[in-house]
Amino acid sequence: MTTTDVTTTPGRERSAEELKALVEDAQRRFGERDADPDEVLAWAAETFGKKLAVACSMASDTVVPALVSTHLKGVDVLFLETGYHFPETLQTRDEFARDWPVNVRTLLPELTVPEQDEKYGAKLHDRDPGLCCGMRKVAPLDRALAGYEAWVTGLRREETPHRANAAPVEWDEHHQMVKINAIVDWTFDHVVAYAEENLVVVNPLLSQGYPSIGCAPCTRKVAPGEDPRAGRWSGVGKTECGIHL
Ligand code: SF4
Repeated sequence: MTTTDVTTTPGRERSAEELKALVEDAQRRFGERDADPDEVLAWAAETFGKKLAVACSMASDTVVPALVSTHLKGVDVLFLETGYHFPETLQTRDEFARDWPVNVRTLLPELTVPEQDEKYGAKLHDRDPGLCCGMRKVAPLDRALAGYEAWVTGLRREETPHRANAAPVEWDEHHQMVKINAIVDWTFDHVVAYAEENLVVVNPLLSQGYPSIGCAPCTRKVAPGEDPRAGRWSGVGKTECGIHL
């Protein structure tokens, strides 16, 4: 199922202190490095229920909501519709929503692309990608996450040096909530193998030279042997959109 909205969320009941205590308990139980995703997600589903959401960019990370849905049917999957996606990414979203027992929520920025162009000038992504990502990714996700107590990400340690110390369960200071990096120790090959074994649709661009996929204007193909994320914001010194900072 897919829905398009920015406002409907289940709301929070626990305080930040109560949520932090849950993180400490989880870190004692699962450790701070490698944990079995099924064990972590079974705990997350039981602890948070509908107050758990999954963020998914509809690239290789569709395996994450697929995994979560085996523990929590109907889980909300948050997809950021920036207005700049490849058609293959939207196609992946629709196929995934059709095939798996999840509720894909398509989150929209406040401004459409034409409205942003009118206010900031065309191709803001070339001139100020930080501002563009802030308006089209970070702010819509912030608004949505305010209505949940925990979120699951597809963040993996091997992706960037910034992610090298990520734990399976963390305190998210920015969002004041629990952050669950369910496949934090998986490699790209591990992700692909899981998708194949479990018939999870992944973005077809992955096998066409795009191992990391974001918005079309900010993603290029990478050469064999090149850093998989070298194709993101290539040449502008940016490596993260900001949602994991
Ligand atoms: Fe804008 Fe590029 Fe960020 Fe997409 S990835 S929101 S187009 S700067």
